[in-house]
Amino acid sequence: MSHPSGELLAAYWLGELSEADALALEEHVFGCGPCTTASARMAALPRALAFAVPPVITTAEGTRLQALDARVVRTHIAPGARGLADFSGGAEAQLMVLEADLRGAERVEVTLCARDGTPLIPRVDAPFDADAGTITVACRGYYLKNQALPLEITLQVEAIVAGERRQVGTFDIDHIPPV
Ligand SMILES: [Zn+2]
Repeated sequence: MSHPSGELLAAYWLGELSEADALALEEHVFGCGPCTTASARMAALPRALAFAVPPVITTAEGTRLQALDARVVRTHIAPGARGLADFSGGAEAQLMVLEADLRGAERVEVTLCARDGTPLIPRVDAPFDADAGTITVACRGYYLKNQALPLEITLQVEAIVAGERRQVGTFDIDHIPPV
């Protein structure tokens, strides 16, 4: 086998190759310096993709991120309260669990604002757990590193109940940036 293409290496790490193809690839790659290097870079991809999640996620997706990175913790925030998302330990994401009365909600929308209330990211449709009364927000260290978002943000949560929009709470999140 000659040097595999990047596409083939990606397919290998995503588990998409047949066993025979995977074996043939391994036979070449682990005896070839340049391919070992390329392969190691590729191996980090599924992990990076797993963290490329939308800002509001399901409870199950939160559990998946915690399984991938033990530094990801869940912090519960009551309406009107403040939570701390700590990235100083190198975690790629932190989960902020917003507690709200979501009984009867057909949809939930979250608006990401600066602390003074200026909207930064307009309303996004958010998955929510109506029974538990929770919305799980995944803060990403990536955005802080690139200074795409301020360290102090406020989330405004609205629910659509019986076709009517109502405020269910305002939640403050302070971020400790990655070192
Ligand atoms: Zn090679």
